[in-house]
Amino acid sequence: MKDISLIRADFPILSTSVYGKPLVYFDNAATTQKPLCVLETIQDVYTEYNANIHRGVHAISDRASEEYEKAREKVRSFLNAAHKEEIIFTSGTTGSINAVAFSFGERYISEGDEVVVSHLEHHSNIVPWQMLCERKKARLKVIPMNESGMLVLEEYYKLLSPRTKIVAVTQVSNALGTIQPVSEIISAAHSIGVPVLVDGAQGIQHGITDVQKLDCDFYVFSGHKIYGPAGTGVLYGKNKWLSELPPYQGGGDMVANVTFDKTTYNELPFRFEAGTTNFPGAIGLASALGYVDALGRENIAAREKELLGHAINILTGIPQLRIIGNNGSGISTISFLINGIHPYDTGMILDKLGVAVRTGAHCAQPVMDFYEIEGTVRASLCFYNTIEEINLLGTGIEQVIKMFS
Ligand code: PLP
Repeated sequence: MKDISLIRADFPILSTSVYGKPLVYFDNAATTQKPLCVLETIQDVYTEYNANIHRGVHAISDRASEEYEKAREKVRSFLNAAHKEEIIFTSGTTGSINAVAFSFGERYISEGDEVVVSHLEHHSNIVPWQMLCERKKARLKVIPMNESGMLVLEEYYKLLSPRTKIVAVTQVSNALGTIQPVSEIISAAHSIGVPVLVDGAQGIQHGITDVQKLDCDFYVFSGHKIYGPAGTGVLYGKNKWLSELPPYQGGGDMVANVTFDKTTYNELPFRFEAGTTNFPGAIGLASALGYVDALGRENIAAREKELLGHAINILTGIPQLRIIGNNGSGISTISFLINGIHPYDTGMILDKLGVAVRTGAHCAQPVMDFYEIEGTVRASLCFYNTIEEINLLGTGIEQVIKMFS
């Protein structure tokens, strides 16, 4: 892989300081930093061909439409989806899940049906399904988790029944960094004809996602968590589902013909992209995926594994610290607590040392309830972080402990 100093030079924010200290950014699970190529791509859109897509007959509108559709093709190949029209651009993971919950719900869910989610979900993969269940008088079933932060498959199998209409699970827990057995979850659901939505918000950036191999029915992720712009995201859906689902929102570009008597809808994928989309963002997202591919997804995974191993070594060497969930086999995200010290205090002090971590419930309150805690400190690393930065986290934590002792 490219030399780390060159990689870091691609991300201008990594050479800035906070409180006079070099920024150590360990909040990558919340959002990732952007390489120059993404920033330049977006600037190119606005300075060279900013025009609404799929509408104009003029040159720069054509160019914008072409780049947008090239971006869709980039996402298709990144996910290894079978068809380009299976890729819908959305505002993010949340937008994608809400679209499926609404659209699938309208078409397939009625009173007494069941929707299965898991105890490990981000609120984004709980609340839209709860809202659907409320609307349709359906029931939400929850796959339990265990102390190690893993879903309990034996209990999941028991939840599946003829009433189950869809399963929605996360590929990786955002709160703990644990990788979930989504392949097993998908095959069990498919054995009774039930589709599965995989929330890839924390999975896509850490390895290789091949939606055909995974055989998921829907796969969703956010651009900003994979070095792309905020307000961008993807909904992948198998053609066989997307072509059956009603549109989620009405408006321009999603229609074929509009009269006051009847409106007919556009073909896939446009049917699910009502209004002016964030086309500069989608084009920027494709540039981010290109950056990831240039580094090499295997290389990224290997480097992050090395960083995780070092972080686990450092953190387990601190006797007052308890790691929750990730024993080293997860992604490079570690949640922890320090005996007797509130996560918020730990986060505040680390911040003053230039180290940015996330504290709180990480939009996964049920996970915190499971451990009977209010929240954790979460350090989420990625390939542009360094061993030296992890050492700084370690000394920072020692300092926090000293201050409170
Ligand atoms: N799902 C998971 C697993 C997440 O980690 C997140 C964000 O942290 C989301 C969903 C929501 O993503 P967004 O806010 O980008 O829509």
